[in-house]
Amino acid sequence: MKEECGVFGIVGSGGAAALSYLGLYSLQHRGQESSGIITSDGESMYEHKAMGLVSEVFTEEILKGLKGDIAIGHNRYSTTGMSRLVNAQPFMVNCKIGKIAIAHNGNLINAAFLRAGMEKKGSIFRSGMDSEVILHLIAKSRKKNITEMIIDALRQVEGSYSAVFLLEDRVIAARDPHGFRPLCIGKLDDSVVFASESCAFDILEAEYTGEVAPGEICIATRDRFESIQFSEPADPLSKCIFEYIYFSRPDSRVFGENVDKVRRKIGRRLSQESPVDADMVISVPDSSNTIALGYANQSGIPFELGLIRNHYVGRTFIQPEQAARDWDIRIKFNPVRGVLEGRRIIVVDDSIVRGSTMKKLVAMLRGAGASEIHLRIGSPLITHSCYFGIDTPTTGELIASRYSLEEIRDFLEVESLAYISLEGLRSCVKEREDYCVACFSGDYPLCGEAVERGERGCQGCGGGNRSGFGE
Ligand code: AMP
Repeated sequence: MKEECGVFGIVGSGGAAALSYLGLYSLQHRGQESSGIITSDGESMYEHKAMGLVSEVFTEEILKGLKGDIAIGHNRYSTTGMSRLVNAQPFMVNCKIGKIAIAHNGNLINAAFLRAGMEKKGSIFRSGMDSEVILHLIAKSRKKNITEMIIDALRQVEGSYSAVFLLEDRVIAARDPHGFRPLCIGKLDDSVVFASESCAFDILEAEYTGEVAPGEICIATRDRFESIQFSEPADPLSKCIFEYIYFSRPDSRVFGENVDKVRRKIGRRLSQESPVDADMVISVPDSSNTIALGYANQSGIPFELGLIRNHYVGRTFIQPEQAARDWDIRIKFNPVRGVLEGRRIIVVDDSIVRGSTMKKLVAMLRGAGASEIHLRIGSPLITHSCYFGIDTPTTGELIASRYSLEEIRDFLEVESLAYISLEGLRSCVKEREDYCVACFSGDYPLCGEAVERGERGCQGCGGGNRSGFGE
């Protein structure tokens, strides 16, 4: 099951639930369907999860009931049909080692395969989540301690995972050897904190100290922090470059770089690659603000606020039902006629996925009197679906998988359209070979079919929407 999520963990801090709540609040952009926190006071575990935003799921009363100084939390987003409480995380089970809970960000490409094998042997699954597969593997492990049991389980799964596990006396954080998704480590007085993005630390005034490395597992108890490299990091790594383009917040540090800085570089590079004469640069707020600023700074064309975003609705794409999307776009953005009327505008957006948002925005901007619309996109053409934790639709639904640049320009009815080149994008990050760019190139770092045959690495099938491959 494809999931985009935010995870959080904290060890050794009184009021761990309240701190987790704040952390999850800052990670809200990573998932808006459900939220949950599980805590431990060393004797019992306390759980609350529900559908909705963090602010809707928790009340003061509920947080008070989540006792203890150790906690993990999760914000979840997933694709159509799977939006049910049973799939909300963190997910807790009782097994031979007692209670264990997991909060997972990522997508296991061999989850269906592993699950089918276990079901054949009589295992019963309660949810449709990949995370439950990990817990089953842990419960089945014959290793003698919990760290080894988790490592044993992780060695059997393929795909992306940045996960935190909660036990009565500890939080264990692990990241897959490819490093697809971020997982940051922080320090709050004497407590250890884990979070998908560092913006969750800022709200707590915790200090960012680094990241769980690809292939590393970190064990944090009240008085001990230990780390084990359970697998060689892949070479090259496959950090998700889309975290910089769209997914992470600009005030976060992920993969060791400031998202804001990378986004500005993307904007500057886009302007160098595809300049155009116009009166102003506008962004599609909020996700492309920083890219648009970079573009404006490089080109010397003023940045203006031509679109106002209503902040009280969730992100359009985040709503799983297609039907809800059209309605969302209209209530989400409103053009500023006084800024746009009679002007030649450069519209900067971070990405075009299906093309439906941009089609409507262009019509909106024309309606507000823009005389020319030049579209500049901060990602290359998205031609392939993601199987590693970003929710992109099937390859066939991606506008760039079916149409040429000129056909897309024609469909969107804009004067000009340009995307940043893949090389240009890569030049905006350090260690440029260590990123997964499969959604732009189709060059998947892991192939589901190969994995199911017990092989590693793509055998040249090119991935795509093949049966059993991440769908
Ligand atoms: P679309 O209408 O499908 O072309 O959606 C494009 C818009 O969705 C862009 O403006 C992006 O800001 C946003 N977007 C891109 N990828 C994602 C994602 N994985 N989740 C949520 N929103 C996204």
